Amino acid sequence: MPLTLTRSDNVPRLIHAAPIGICITDEDGLFEMANPAYCAFSGYAEAELLGRPFTLLMPEADREALIAQHRHFMQGDEEHDERREWEVICRSGERRSVIAESSRLEDDAGRPKRVTFITDITERKAMEQRLDFLARHDDLTGLLNRRAGMARLEEEIARSHRQGTSLCVAIADLDQFKLINDRYGHATGDDVLAGVTELMQGNLRRYDILARMGGEEFLLILPDVTLDEAHQGLERLRALVAHATLGQAGVGVTLSAGTAMLAPGEASRTLLERADRALYRAKQAGRNRVLDACGA
Ligand code: GH3
Ligand code: MG
Ligand code: MG
Repeated sequence: MPLTLTRSDNVPRLIHAAPIGICITDEDGLFEMANPAYCAFSGYAEAELLGRPFTLLMPEADREALIAQHRHFMQGDEEHDERREWEVICRSGERRSVIAESSRLEDDAGRPKRVTFITDITERKAMEQRLDFLARHDDLTGLLNRRAGMARLEEEIARSHRQGTSLCVAIADLDQFKLINDRYGHATGDDVLAGVTELMQGNLRRYDILARMGGEEFLLILPDVTLDEAHQGLERLRALVAHATLGQAGVGVTLSAGTAMLAPGEASRTLLERADRALYRAKQAGRNRVLDACGA
C-alpha cells in the first residue's frame, strides 16, 4: 500500500524513517528527540538519551567547552547553522567520525531548539586515509615511495636552509640485482628487497628517512649529520647488508652508495646529482662500497 502522509503526521514519520541520524536538543543541550538512525549509530536507545546532555557522546575533556559553545549557538536573534566534523564516542566506547549539521529553530512556544543531522563518515575517512597511505608508500617494502620521498627531501632541505643545520643524503643501490632475479627468480628478488629494507630501517636513527626511489634504489635523508657521519652510517648499513642472508632462500647481496652533504643554498636536483655521481663511482670502483660526493 502506498504511504500516505497527512500534513499533521508527515514530519515525525519522515524524521523517524530518515536514513541519517537526527536529534533535537534544547537550550541546555539536553536531548529531546533522537531518531532510529541516530540511535543505531550511537548504540543508545532513545529513552537512554532523552533528558541527558548531547555531550554524553563527546570526549570528557571537551564537554565543558562544547556546552558553552552550544549555549552560544542557541543565543541571538539571527538564524544559526553550523557544519562541523566531530569525533564521537558511541555507547560501546567505539569512536566514530561524523559530520554534524545543526540548525537553530524555534518550537511553537518560541523556545529555541537545535536540530542536528549526523552523517557517519568513519568508513569514508578510513578509506581516505588508506588511499593517502597507498599514494605515499611503496607496496613491496612499505617505505615512502619516490614522490613522498622527494617531498620529504624538499621539506628537509627547506628546514636546513632556514635553520642553518646540516643535511646529508645518500643514494643506495643494490649491486647486480638483476643477477639475483635471474638466478633465484623475481619472487625471491622481492623477498631480498624487503629483507634489505628491514635491515636498513632497523638500523637508522629516529630522524633518518628511508624511501624507495624505484627498483632496487633507495634514498636516505640524514638530518643534522656531517658528511663524515653520513659516510659512517652508510658504511655500517653496507656492512650489515653484506653480512646478511636474506629472504627464505638465504640470499646474499651487497649495496653501493653515494653520499652528499647539502651546500648553502643548494637545491635538491644538484644535491641528488652529486650523490648519484658518487654512487656511479662506487659502482665503477667495484661495488659494495660507499663513496662521498665532491663539493657542490
Ligand atoms: P648494478 O650493480 O649496476 O646496480 O646492477 P643491477 O643489476 O642491480 O642494475 P640494473 O639496473 O641493471 O638492474 C636492476 C634490477 O633490479 C633489474 C630489475 O629487474 C630489478 N628490480 C627492480 N625492481 C624490482 C622489484 O621490485 N623486484 C624485483 N624482484 N626485482 C626488481
Ligand atoms: Mg643495482
Ligand atoms: Mg638501480
